[in-house]
Amino acid sequence: MINYISTRDPQHKVTSSKAILSGQAPDGGLYIPEHLEDIKCDYHDILSGDFRSMAKAVWNIFFPDYGPEKVDALVEKSYEGKFSAPEITPLVKVGDSFVLELYHGPTSAFKDVALSALPNLLTAARSMNDFTDEIMILTATSGDTGSAALCGFGGVPGTRIVVFYPYGGVSETQRLQMVTAPGDNACACAIRGNFDDAQTGVKKLFREIPHPVSGVSLSSANSINIGRLVPQIVYYFSAYSQLLSAGAIKDGDKVEFIVPTGNFGDIMAGYFAYKMGLPVGRLICASNRNDVLTEFLETGHYNRKREFHKTTSPSMDILVSSNLERLLYYVCGAEHTVEYMKALNETGEYTVTGAELAEMQSIFTGVCASDKEGSAAIRDVFESESYLMDTHTSIAWACKEKLGASSSAASVVLSTASPYKFSRAVLEALGEELSDSDEANMKKVYEVTGAAIPEGLAGIFEREVRSKDVIDISDMKSYVIKKSE
Ligand SMILES: *Cc1c(COP(=O)(O)O)cnc(C)c1O
Repeated sequence: MINYISTRDPQHKVTSSKAILSGQAPDGGLYIPEHLEDIKCDYHDILSGDFRSMAKAVWNIFFPDYGPEKVDALVEKSYEGKFSAPEITPLVKVGDSFVLELYHGPTSAFKDVALSALPNLLTAARSMNDFTDEIMILTATSGDTGSAALCGFGGVPGTRIVVFYPYGGVSETQRLQMVTAPGDNACACAIRGNFDDAQTGVKKLFREIPHPVSGVSLSSANSINIGRLVPQIVYYFSAYSQLLSAGAIKDGDKVEFIVPTGNFGDIMAGYFAYKMGLPVGRLICASNRNDVLTEFLETGHYNRKREFHKTTSPSMDILVSSNLERLLYYVCGAEHTVEYMKALNETGEYTVTGAELAEMQSIFTGVCASDKEGSAAIRDVFESESYLMDTHTSIAWACKEKLGASSSAASVVLSTASPYKFSRAVLEALGEELSDSDEANMKKVYEVTGAAIPEGLAGIFEREVRSKDVIDISDMKSYVIKKSE
């Protein structure tokens, strides 16, 4: 049975349900499976059946202490009726490549795949470990995580959730998705400050009030939790299975994946799929103008001391990619991981050894593309293939084009959001006229493309606004205590 260890201390071992319950290891490290050999399997054993059977096979390997019966029920509950596509993550041929659409969940971004599952994994972990406290999820968001987390945790017994977002710092669509989300246990609150203030404020609350009131414990819904990462491994297998069914590859052929990357969670799930035995050619880490990972994968030097650029792919605007620490552990070992994370914290940079870099480069390639290159990709692909991409997917597409011909049998671009979620930038790329209102822009995208507006987005302009709270940073603490009572 696999154990989970901290990336900063292999002696600290817990079960998978404990790792999910705690989110982060007490020493500040992230939980990962102790040995990669333990997740190695015959990939054919995972590939059979639909998305849910593949999910069960993957979860059974990573979450052994839940047991197959519970895993079965949890997978069904997580995906029943939540996704508008029967394949959950359908694969579409676009030109000579394929696009894996991960955005057919309730909030139209790929985070739904994992945040549909995490609340169920967490509540099961609670009862398995005789944990009687109610769980209060605190999340700071720049947009997408907030709505997916509110939607995932809304109405889930034994949990409550508060999402803090920067006042005036998210799009109208993203704000409405959050403030109209249903669930008596869930609320979104604007703070007078930017995303970093929200994030710093939340981290501070974890230290200051781990139990805001007696009988309530704080926890987190972001991708440092291994319960968010494992459900994402499944769609790499799903993509392979759909390529086989379409006759696009032969069994055993290598496939490369191009992943629009921010916090390195999505692509880390691809690394686990590769280490399980899935035939993967390259994992291409696509970044926008915030190219810290491109430089790292090219030179081995991670340097967060650089200008932060606000781009049209905001979910990839990040300078410290937390999940990279998981890769560092497997490639560099605990001692170097501790050293590098300490250096990152104290000096803002670190450099891995030549051998470590070479090992990473044996599977990862880093590329970046600008807003301009991304929007050119949106226009070109729409004109030549009548296929519309969002601003994050188009960065990945542009990176694929920059790299040129692949030696793999097929290339799969991961599509992380519906173009309707970023209507304004998408219309701009197409050279269409813009309106001040997101509702009008969404309708315009519909007029131009004819593709149906996702149900979860179409309704937000009419739904009741449930939270109008706007608070100062200094009031976050009392807000959380009040919401915990
Ligand atoms: C979160 C997000 C990403 C980045 O994913 P990571 O797992 O953080 O690398 C990319 N695109 C969209 C639309 C997202 O919401």
